[in-house]
Amino acid sequence: MNFSLTEEQKSVRKVVRSFVDREIIPYIKEWDEKGHFETDILKRLAELQLMGVCIPEEYGGVGMDYNTLAIVCEELERGDTAFRTAVSVHTGLNSMTLLQWGTEVQKQNYLIPQANGDKIGAFGLTEPNAGSDVAALETTAVKDGNFYILNGSKTWISLCDVADHFLIFAKTDPKAGHRGISCFIVERTFEGVSSKAIKGKLGIRAGNTGEVFLDNVRVPAENLLGFEGEGFKIAMSALDNGRFTVAAGACGTIMAALEASLKYCEERKTFGKEIGRHQLVQQMIAKMSANLEISRLLVFKAGWLKNSGKRNTQETSLAKWISCDAAFEAANDAVQIHGAYGFSNEFPVERYLRNAKAPVIYEGTREIHTIMQGEYALGYREDKTLRKMLPAWPFEEILV
Ligand SMILES: Cc1cc2nc3c(=O)[nH]c(=O)nc-3n(C[C@H](O)[C@H](O)[C@H](O)COP(=O)(O)OP(=O)(O)OC[C@H]3O[C@@H](n4cnc5c(N)ncnc54)[C@H](O)[C@@H]3O)c2cc1C
Repeated sequence: MNFSLTEEQKSVRKVVRSFVDREIIPYIKEWDEKGHFETDILKRLAELQLMGVCIPEEYGGVGMDYNTLAIVCEELERGDTAFRTAVSVHTGLNSMTLLQWGTEVQKQNYLIPQANGDKIGAFGLTEPNAGSDVAALETTAVKDGNFYILNGSKTWISLCDVADHFLIFAKTDPKAGHRGISCFIVERTFEGVSSKAIKGKLGIRAGNTGEVFLDNVRVPAENLLGFEGEGFKIAMSALDNGRFTVAAGACGTIMAALEASLKYCEERKTFGKEIGRHQLVQQMIAKMSANLEISRLLVFKAGWLKNSGKRNTQETSLAKWISCDAAFEAANDAVQIHGAYGFSNEFPVERYLRNAKAPVIYEGTREIHTIMQGEYALGYREDKTLRKMLPAWPFEEILV
């Protein structure tokens, strides 16, 4: 077991950190206030080759390991949750799913342009009447010759107005419950696809989230990902990767909350001493610091399993559950440490708190992960090898 980062991983951390310090932190307060999603950041991330960091070079990425993706996500979320969310859906939920389940033609047509950042991918699972209960989704896909006709609507879709490609989950057999779900690669340019951003969000205001409408969209049959009826398994495997990036990002929120709090602990004095000298403030700092370490260890363990080509639903769910709760607590305590000043946007901690709520809800709510962990502990649930597994790393060993 080796707990140290490689030189390559350290250098990626350095690059992303300085990018965030230079190109996100100085502007994020304004973007957040205006509800503006700065798409140039995605272009800049593509220039830095960070939109496909763990996708093999032959498919347009840079071929680094899965924990390097975690490092990118952690550092991005230190700047703001919006940009980590973008990488989560583009790389974690979409590109890695194409890598795992796609045909060679699908990888050539969709994965390569996504991994090199020319095109942006998103993930359309949630619907107005189907969130945690995925099997309740109502979007339909009806076969018509060499096409499927898709009808329905998706909601709370990150990058809804920005993405070029969507993975859309629809029922090919509405009577078959979760076994009747299939997954399709849908291009924004297909006739009948439209989107609309959701306004008035609590957090991730500098991000783009909203609805995607599918009105008699003709999707070529070759854009079916996996087999008909395999969509539920594909969605759950995609979430193994999305949740991994969310968990890593949560470490970035804890890091940002801790950094801001440490600074304030030195600046602010009460009762004749810096507030950091008060034991109850130290308790909040100690919790943040311990939770950062715990969360990172859980994330890197899940990444290590991914690198080994093993199923990791249990470990990824645990990392996502614990780190997202810890990030919310860290942001909440950071506001507390800042007193009344933490209640205004003069300091960034109120944004951390608003942002930290979403990851406790998306990619499996806190309650869903609690249930999953209970079921694993009780032996009611186990992870079995899938028909198609995410490639182990290093890639050259398995792709030959
Ligand atoms: C900012 C943001 C971005 C998002 N981006 C995407 C995206 O890109 N793509 C996408 O497909 N979706 C996305 N989502 C949607 C997200 O994944 C869902 O909101 C989430 O799965 C929860 O579904 P729901 O909101 O319908 O809540 P519900 O499923 O209706 O749950 C409501 C409440 O009931 C609880 N609950 C539900 N079932 C149970 C149960 N069995 N036991 C105990 N408690 C239960 C939940 O924990 C929750 O507290 C996003 C959401 C947000 C907020």
